[in-house]
Amino acid sequence: MSDFDEREAYEPNDPKHPDWPDSILNKLDEEKYEAKLNSFDEPGYQCVGCKRAPAQIQEYVDAAHDEGITPSEWVRSEEGTFNKENGHFWCTNCYIKAGMPLGKAP
Ligand SMILES: [Zn+2]
Repeated sequence: MSDFDEREAYEPNDPKHPDWPDSILNKLDEEKYEAKLNSFDEPGYQCVGCKRAPAQIQEYVDAAHDEGITPSEWVRSEEGTFNKENGHFWCTNCYIKAGMPLGKAP
């Protein structure tokens, strides 16, 4: 009678395999996140000031990364100036430069 070897419960390349260190799992999460970033395409999303997309604006990249979502998703759900009719918003810099207009971005 042999002890149950939990390693045999997984394929060798299964990330849940007990031989896989956490660092690899974290890296996989990062890679999954990168893949998600690259696959999530919202071409209409842009700041009406600097014309940049959320993924090009560091504040959204950082905030989205903390939440494990894409910058576009973050802007859509969190950015107060986001206009869901056309995907426009003000990034913080442009919002201040524009004199902090009330309401949604045009
Ligand atoms: Zn801007």
